[in-house]
Amino acid sequence: MVKLVVTFLGTSAAAPTADRGLPAVAVKREGEVILMDCGEGVQRRVLSESLGLGSDMTILVTHLHGDHVTGLLGLLQTMSLAQRRKPLNVVGPEKLLKWLDITAELLHIGLTFPIRFSPAKPGVVLRTGGFRIRAARAAHSVEAFSYLVEELGRPGIFYPEKAKALGVPEGKLWSRLQKGRAVTLRGKRVEPLEVTGPPRPGRRIGYSGDTRPTAGLLRFFSRCDFLIFDSTFRDSDREKAVERRHSTSLEAADLAKKARVRRLALTHFSARYTSVSSLVREARRVFPNTIAASDGLSVEVPYQA
Ligand SMILES: [Zn+2]
Ligand SMILES: [Zn+2]
Repeated sequence: MVKLVVTFLGTSAAAPTADRGLPAVAVKREGEVILMDCGEGVQRRVLSESLGLGSDMTILVTHLHGDHVTGLLGLLQTMSLAQRRKPLNVVGPEKLLKWLDITAELLHIGLTFPIRFSPAKPGVVLRTGGFRIRAARAAHSVEAFSYLVEELGRPGIFYPEKAKALGVPEGKLWSRLQKGRAVTLRGKRVEPLEVTGPPRPGRRIGYSGDTRPTAGLLRFFSRCDFLIFDSTFRDSDREKAVERRHSTSLEAADLAKKARVRRLALTHFSARYTSVSSLVREARRVFPNTIAASDGLSVEVPYQA
């Protein structure tokens, strides 16, 4: 079974604390990395988590607030120092590219690799080797997006007895059918669905970025396997969440429950809380399968049974 692992690289909001860096989350699958947001200092985390400066990487930026983007430039510079050649996918608000161009020019940063930029917009924004990336509008104080990282689906379970009954010999042809491709045998075509179960859906990871909870996001994240949601404030500080266009841990839990997601991770905690245990407690009352993200925490996302 292919491992799909989510690693939190930074889990603080706006300003770092002694224990928490600025926002960044990595999704890793078979050598491919999807990096969501690039808080300052993210490059050290990329190194300490062995994500690879030269790996197949896609960077998704939710919005242009300093705590979510200032780490990108340092990461690109270090990738160039490491002589990266492979193109790097970057998805984000249109103005991200302008910011990158201007700062790279002013600081005389010449990149050794091309950036393939896709502007974020609602819908499918990119297909990579192993994933389909969808974006939706978030509700924050500036233009902001949420992302859904969908693992490409797998072919259904293979039934050898059915293949044998149809006279398909074991070996190369079985493996083609297992991969979901038809084979032709003595002029007769055998479709994969004749020897396999229905295709199995891939795993889906949702990332809200900074946002208020909305009905649109509830639909967008519907039934995802792992949802990472803005939890800047405790519910007793809801007024601040409304005013600054963030969510509380209770609001995140309420959305997770209504969207029927499998597991929720709270993140982007305000530096005002020295401990986030009260935020997790109130969220668990509504949605028990809730965890608090912390820097360096890795979570494996299993297939649905
Ligand atoms: Zn933020
Ligand atoms: Zn923000």
